[in-house]
Formats: sequence, structure tokens, C-alpha cells
Amino acid sequence: MTVRVRFAPSPTGMFHVGGARSALQNWIFAKQQGGVFVLRIEDTDAARNKPEWTEGILSALEWIGIARGSYEGPYFQSSYAGEHRAAAQRLYEGGRAYYCDCTREDVQARTGPQQRGYDGFCRDRGLGPGEGRALRFRTPDEGETVVVDLVRGEPTFENKLIEDFVIARGDGSPVFLLANVVDDMSMGITHVIRAEEHLPNTPKQQLLWDALGVKPPIWAHVPVVVNEKRQKLSKRRDKVALEAYRDEGYLADAMRNYLMLLGWAPSGDREIVPWSVIEEEFRLDEVNPSPAFFDEKKLRAFNGDYIRALPVEDFVAACQPWLTGTDTIAPPPWQPEEFDPAAFAAVAPLAQTRIAVLSEIVPNVDFLFLADPLIDEAAWAKAMKEGAADLLDAAIVAFEALESWDAESLKATLEAVGAERGLKLGKAQAPVRVAVTGRTVGLPLFESLEVLGRDRTLTRLRAARVRLV
Ligand code: GLU
Repeated sequence: MTVRVRFAPSPTGMFHVGGARSALQNWIFAKQQGGVFVLRIEDTDAARNKPEWTEGILSALEWIGIARGSYEGPYFQSSYAGEHRAAAQRLYEGGRAYYCDCTREDVQARTGPQQRGYDGFCRDRGLGPGEGRALRFRTPDEGETVVVDLVRGEPTFENKLIEDFVIARGDGSPVFLLANVVDDMSMGITHVIRAEEHLPNTPKQQLLWDALGVKPPIWAHVPVVVNEKRQKLSKRRDKVALEAYRDEGYLADAMRNYLMLLGWAPSGDREIVPWSVIEEEFRLDEVNPSPAFFDEKKLRAFNGDYIRALPVEDFVAACQPWLTGTDTIAPPPWQPEEFDPAAFAAVAPLAQTRIAVLSEIVPNVDFLFLADPLIDEAAWAKAMKEGAADLLDAAIVAFEALESWDAESLKATLEAVGAERGLKLGKAQAPVRVAVTGRTVGLPLFESLEVLGRDRTLTRLRAARVRLV
């Protein structure tokens, strides 16, 4: 039997990091089993669908390493409406489903507001189809439904506690629960690997598989992803869109490594591992069923490690989208013609060890490409205290006299200027740094000045001095 798994996102306008995690787990499992990964877009909610959202899913998948053309699909759930209706009809004709005309108010009037679920009122009324009549699945009165789940063992549900649930609405349209089963069935899915939030639906879905006469798949409900308050990650509250991480400058390799650590860890005491190791070692039955904490701080640190591990040429290439801007990344503050690739290459190794996400490259290097530095006024106020004017005057004179404009000489010079004023190098640097880069923190100062060059450095120091008059 060939293993067939599927990733079945609903297009919602962004790609949830939890979805990315499930996609990767499906992808790896298929690869390990010599199986097939199917992509199915669950787009039955026609009102909420936009073609560009599907495109967003395809490109986000591609970004984390699941490339178009390397999987089956995408299929679109909306194309199979006929099959969904036919399955509902078969269940009705086989006596496994019945029509019901109860409104919610009718049910509540009978059961009281406390009781949830349907009371089975129409079970034996023998209603035929009709406008406004929903089709309900007749759940068995006895027995249990055992879900075979690679992550959770065998969660067992008593059938008598499962209500007669709706499979087609009053207008005849099948509900998601049924459509999802019918599609999995017709696509020959053998393993359903998906998020834990679908577990409550699973016994109902398994009953549908049984009733439609097909052996159910093996399930794997992977843990819900939560924030630091142990709340399920939500798009209203948390940063959940994979695209947001991509556009902020997380590396795809770091991201997918981190996503795979949500509920699982590779062997040995290590977390950062090559993708090939994850592909080899990942086991669904080793996934911890407890909620998985999506730790943004840790991801950031992780990304910094990944950035530092890049060969410098790759780092330079990876920075390009932030140096130019793209459809989704804002352009930098300088004009394209102001950018100097050689100057960038000269400071790239210094930046590489200091940034945690690639977008941080821009504020670190903008002083090199802008005619005038962007002055952070708070930094200015902090650095340009008493003595700053005198220090700048002395630094200007000393720098003008320098024979060789290199980091070492610049440092020795400013050190001497500071020492004459009883200032340690750190203190002496502050006004110079703010005058030249506009900020109190950034790349190592003297290397920056070397790359910026004598003329531009002196012009900026003089301009700052004028401002201090
Ligand atoms: N379309 C569902 C979702 O995005 C997935 C359901 C499933 O994986 O079975 O949550």
C-alpha cells in the first residue's frame, strides 16, 4: 500500500505557522515512507476565497522547501461538490442519515439551554428531503469509536455520547466534516496528519468512513501551538503568519528547523541540525502530544545562529531583498543609485555577526548609502552632552591629520583624543558614532568610518559640530 498523506489548508489570507509545521510533518512522513504528499485547498467557503490566497499558500510552502511540482495537486475541494452530495445521498439511502426540520430553538425548548447537541427528535420521523431540512448522521447507540492515532495512542469515544450531527445543511450543501472525509477517501489518503484542534471531529469522521464502507486512515493529531501564556496562537493576538516571518528576514532553513522542534527533538542534545538529519530522524510517534510553545525569542536566537553560519557570500545574497525592497518588503531609505555593493560587501561580515533577522541589516548600514545619516534624536540627546563639542573639534583635527584612513589608526587617534580628556574609548566614541551614523548602536565604529571614507566622515562630524553651536 502506498502511503498517501495530504495537507489541506483552508485559504484564509495568510499561512499559519502551525499549518506550516503540519505541512512539514506530512512532507517528511511521505518522504520517509516512499509515499505521496497531496495538497488540497479546502475552499468550500466560497464567500471567503480569493485566488491570491491560494497563491500565497503555494509560495509559502515553496519557501519552506515544499516546491510546486514535487507534490500531487493542488486539488480544490470546491471542485468535488458533486461527490460530497452523492456521499450524503448514499448515507441517506442506506438509512445512515435522516432528514430533520428542527430549529435550534425547537431543540432547546425540548432539552433546556444547558444541554448541548441534538436530541434525536427526528430520528424515526421518516421525513423526506425538503427545503430547510438538514441531513443528520445517525450515530450508533452503542459501542465505541477507537481512533488509531500515531501521536495520541488510541483515544476512545463512546458512540452514545456522539450526537446525530449534521452532514448536509437545509439548502442541501454538505458540511465541511463530510466534504473533508469524502475528499480524503477519493484521494486515497492513508494517514491524516493534522492539528489537534480537529481531534474532536475525528470520531464523527471515522464513523462516516465506516458508514461509507471504507477503512479509515491512520490519524496523527499533532499538538496545538501556543504562545507564552499557553493560549492557542491566534492571528488576532499573535504573530502567526509565516509570510510575516519571511518578510522580517527569518531564513527558511531556520524557520523549518524551528517548526519541527514544536513537540519533537532530534537525537542528542541538539536543536540546530541539518534538514537531512530531521528528515531521517523525525518520527510521528515521538511527537509529544502536549501543547507546543512557539517561542518567538528562541526562534530569533535560532535565526541569528543560522545567519552567522552562512558563508558570507550567501549572507550578502540573502540580504538583497531588504537592500532593494520587493512586493512585500518595504524599500530601504536610500535611493537605488546611492547603494554601493563594494561598501556593503566590506561591512557585511561585521553585520552578519550582529543581526538576528535580515531586515535588521537596513538600520545597520543605511549610514553608508544616505547622503546624510538618519539622526535618532534620542540617541543624539544621549551622546551630545557636555564636552561633546570639544571632543568633536579635537577628533576632526586629529582625523584630518591622519595619513592612513584605516580602522586601526582611527581607533588609536580617537583613543588619544579621549585620553587627553579623561575619557575611556567607549565614552569618546559616542558623539562620533551618533554624528556619523545617527545612532548609539551599530557596527564597529572604526571599521564603519574606514568604509565610509575620510571626506564623508569629516563632513558629518563638522555638520554635527555646527548643530552643537
Ligand atoms: N482545512 C482544515 C484546516 O485548515 C484542515 C482539516 C484537516 O486537515 O483535516 O484547518
